[in-house]
Amino acid sequence: MRSFDPVQAMAQTRHEFGEHGGVNPSVELSTTFTVMHAETMPGIFQGRKGPAEGCFLYGRHFNPTVHVLGRLLAAMEGTEAAYCTASGLSAVAGAAIQLMKTGDHAVVANAIYGGSFALFHDFLPDRMGIDVTFVDIDDLDAVRRAVTPKTKMIYCETLSNPTLVVADIPALADIAHGVGAKLVVDNTFAPTVVTPKVHGADVVVHSLTKYVSGASDIIAGAICGDNEFVGSLMDLHHGALMLLGPTMDPRIAHELTLRLPHLGIRMQEHGRRAQVFAERLAALGLPVVYPGLSSHPSYERLLKIANPGYGHGGILGLDMGTTEQAFRFMDLLQGMGFGFVAVSLGYFDSLLSCSASSTSSELEDEDLRSAGISPGLVRISVGYTGDMEERWNQLESALRTIGKTGARAS
Ligand SMILES: *Cc1c(COP(=O)(O)O)cnc(C)c1O
Repeated sequence: MRSFDPVQAMAQTRHEFGEHGGVNPSVELSTTFTVMHAETMPGIFQGRKGPAEGCFLYGRHFNPTVHVLGRLLAAMEGTEAAYCTASGLSAVAGAAIQLMKTGDHAVVANAIYGGSFALFHDFLPDRMGIDVTFVDIDDLDAVRRAVTPKTKMIYCETLSNPTLVVADIPALADIAHGVGAKLVVDNTFAPTVVTPKVHGADVVVHSLTKYVSGASDIIAGAICGDNEFVGSLMDLHHGALMLLGPTMDPRIAHELTLRLPHLGIRMQEHGRRAQVFAERLAALGLPVVYPGLSSHPSYERLLKIANPGYGHGGILGLDMGTTEQAFRFMDLLQGMGFGFVAVSLGYFDSLLSCSASSTSSELEDEDLRSAGISPGLVRISVGYTGDMEERWNQLESALRTIGKTGARAS
C-alpha cells in the first residue's frame, strides 16, 4: 500500500492568506458575489467557471471560505475535491441520494451510527423506494451475496460504531467495483488514522462535529470524492447538496479551517491514551474493545491500512455486562471528574455513553444483537485533558467500586 500522510498533505496545500495579508484566511460573509463583466455570468451558471477560476456566484453554490476548508479536507482524504455540509448526516444523506434513485440498491454495514442506520433502514426505503440490504461488513461472503446488478453503493464506517470493527476497505472496494457500484466510507472515527481513498474507497464522508471540531461546539460535515462526483452534488438540476441545500456557514468553515492544523497532534494524543487504557484494562482481564490491542479481531487489518504515526483511534469499548452496571460505572466516573456522560465523541475531555440505549437506540434489540452491541457496552471517547495517570486511577477506582477488578488486580 502507498504510504500517505494526511497531515503532510494538508500542510502542502496552497496557504490561504487573509484579505490584508493576514496569516489566516478571511471570512467571506457575502451570500452573493459581484461579477465584473456581465457576460461571464452564464459561464458560471453552466458550471464552466467556478472557484478554481476565482468565480463565485451565490453562497449555497460556492463560498470562498467554505471552499478553503473543502480544499484542506480533500488534501487530508487524498481526494480531488470535497464539499462541506451543515452536518455529518447531511453528508451521508447527500452522498446516498446522489448515488441512488428509486429502484436502486445499497449494501450497508449493520453496525453504523444510529442516524445513518435510520436513514438507510427507514427513510431511504420508505420515502425514496431505495432497496437496502444490511450485512455484517466483516463477512465478505455475505457482502458478495448481497450485491446485485442494481447495487449502486456499499456503505460502511472505517471503524464501526461502536464495535470498532475495521472495514476491509480494499476488499469491499473490489466487490463494489465488480458490480459498478461505489464504496462510500464514513471516516468520522478515524481522521488522519486511516485514509480510505488510498485503499480504494470512492467517496469519503465525515461528521466534522466530532474530531475535526474537537470541542463539541459545531455541527458540520463533508463529502470527499473525485471532481466529477463533487461536481454532480452541485449540479443545478440534479445536485443533492445544491438542491436540498445543507450549506455550511462560512463562519463555521473558518473556525474548522483553523482546527485542522492540530488535528493530527490531537489524534495522536487521543490514540496514545486510549492505547494505554486499553492495554491496562486488558491486563486486568476486562472485556475491552480496542483495535490497537493484538487481541482485537481487526488488529492486523488496521496495522495494514493505518497511516503510520497517528495511532489506532481514540475510542474504546468496555462491556460492563448489564445496562445497570454500565450506568453505575458512568455515573461514578462522571462524579470523579474523569469525563462526562454524554453522547458524541472527539471532545477534548472524555465522553462516556452506553451505546445500546443512546446513539444506537435506533436499532431494535435484534439489530443490536446482530451488530454485536451488547446492552452493557460503554463507549469511551478518550480525551486528553488532565494528567493521564490521574485519569487512569479514576478509571481503576470506579471499576473497583463496582467489583470489576477482582480476579487479577493484585
Ligand atoms: C455523529 C456521526 C454522524 C452524524 O453526524 P452529525 O454531524 O451529527 O450530523 C455520522 N456518522 C458518524 C460515524 C457519527 O459519529
